[in-house]
Amino acid sequence: PAARRSGSSRARAAPAPRRRHSRRKSFPAKQLCRAADSPKPAADASGESFNIMGKTVLVVEDNELNLRLFCDLLNAHGYSAHPVRDGRDALAKAREIAPDLIIMDIQLPHVSGLELIGQMKADLTLRAVPIMAVTAYAGKGDEEQIRAAGAEAYVSKPISVIKFIESVGAFA
Ligand code: MN
Repeated sequence: PAARRSGSSRARAAPAPRRRHSRRKSFPAKQLCRAADSPKPAADASGESFNIMGKTVLVVEDNELNLRLFCDLLNAHGYSAHPVRDGRDALAKAREIAPDLIIMDIQLPHVSGLELIGQMKADLTLRAVPIMAVTAYAGKGDEEQIRAAGAEAYVSKPISVIKFIESVGAFA
């Protein structure tokens, strides 16, 4: 009978102990807009989602919380958001940065969003820039009035994060 070889060629397979990092990398303390319902940027027809990166969006909003919310959402989705708190600065800022989209609060002190939309649509350099109006006011005929002023889109406050970003993505 053949002699049994036992164990003489057993491989020593024990892996070398891995050196563990003594410190884990920490996540940034501030992570914006990680809401569970916040969608990924929509891919366009070609399936490329990266080409929306860096598109500029002018945000005209006097309410500081809303302004931050909109800008955080936009930045978290790859846009470059430019805040304007005072409607009286909106036209100059729009001419300066030539945005891909303007998000316009309607109820502003000093000058109404409707008036600003009218001024932008009367401006040869700005008229092609799509405007998305955002307003809490939900009176009858409100949307018609906003669209008649020239806005391409309308989103009511309080915003749905998904609707907001989808609407933005339809224009920029
Ligand atoms: Mn307002």
